[in-house]
Amino acid sequence: MTLVSPTVRPVAIASDRKPVLEIRNLSVDYGYDDNAVHALQDVSLTLHAGEVLGLAGESGSGKSTLAYAATRLLPPPGVITGGEVVFTSSRDGHGGDLLRMSDAELRAQRWRDTAIVFQGAMNSLNPVYTIGKQLIDGIAAHSPRGQKEAAKRRALELLDMVGIPKDRLSSYPHQLSGGMRQRVMIAMALALEPEVVIMDEPTTALDVVMQRQIVEQVMSLKNDLGFSVIFITHDVSLLLELADRIAIMYGGNIVEDASAREVYREPRHPYTAGLLHSFPPLHGPRRELRGIPGSPPDLMHLPTGCNFHPRCPFAFDACKTIEPALGPTRFEAEEPHRSVACLLHDPAVAPGPVPVELGVRPTETSPLIKESSTS
Ligand code: ATP
Ligand code: SF4
Repeated sequence: MTLVSPTVRPVAIASDRKPVLEIRNLSVDYGYDDNAVHALQDVSLTLHAGEVLGLAGESGSGKSTLAYAATRLLPPPGVITGGEVVFTSSRDGHGGDLLRMSDAELRAQRWRDTAIVFQGAMNSLNPVYTIGKQLIDGIAAHSPRGQKEAAKRRALELLDMVGIPKDRLSSYPHQLSGGMRQRVMIAMALALEPEVVIMDEPTTALDVVMQRQIVEQVMSLKNDLGFSVIFITHDVSLLLELADRIAIMYGGNIVEDASAREVYREPRHPYTAGLLHSFPPLHGPRRELRGIPGSPPDLMHLPTGCNFHPRCPFAFDACKTIEPALGPTRFEAEEPHRSVACLLHDPAVAPGPVPVELGVRPTETSPLIKESSTS
């Protein structure tokens, strides 16, 4: 039997910025009954207005499932088995639980309030129409009738915003590079000025130089237009540079949620520490690359206790029976805005203090790590 850690208390609000998207206890299965893959288990996450929240974790940890479920675009056999996804406009306070909206309400909400750029979205452009037609039709579909000219002006403005020359409006998708096609998809996502943009590995299919250009462009657009971002990637190094806050996923759970700076300087979860040792930093001091021995959990037959215990170098007896919930760290007084799901941070069961070797403590801090308002 798996017990739930009894000492969990809510963590202080991460900043004084207002929540714009609150994911509460979201659970998703693929399939049913004994054959169900428990892809998300009670996941809670808050995106604040103007924030860039990075979501990282190994392949199969549930990042895309979270993006699809939170936007109600989860394809079958995915089933949302519980939870809420509450959008609250920071412009006028409108919103509600996306999971309980009618289809009509959802259609009105989608792209205006929340938009998503999928992994490999560039391949979803229709090859037989020019990008101009696709952009204009997309904008016109959400505009009052007879607004075709306004839609065309908006399409040109959007292309310009993402750095594509205006004469490309008459190009077909195959006449554009992969990077340009992905920029078109980003332009489409921003067309109705959404408050929340979820980006699921938006640059994975592109070469490194193009990836960097696009990420820089998205961040500059974010600063100009003021939307909030959930940026999904398996590349923690990238998130350290662009995110205000990072949530780390493992086996369908969030195991750590902290500012980018805190994650880099002193990860509190053994899995986060392992992830930091799995990627070369893009800048700053070099780290020894070790990887994380073992494999992610079988989501059909989850281990009892902590999902990570079969791979965790710090596991102790209680880890096999008690499921840690996301809560404050043992250093709550010094770091009230971060949370972790690890029994080492539960004084009622931990065998001793948090091991000092857990944190990655670089001798210098990378100048490129974002200074978060939450740290
Ligand atoms: P990646 O980084 O590779 O995109 P991810 O972290 O986004 O991975 P998901 O794609 O959300 O992870 O997958 C989470 C889990 O759900 C994985 O174990 C995956 O095998 C499972 N899964 C995803 N789609 C399906 C499906 N259609 N049917 C069954 N299981 C699925
Ligand atoms: Fe490791 Fe135990 Fe913490 Fe899980 S709860 S991460 S097994 S120490």
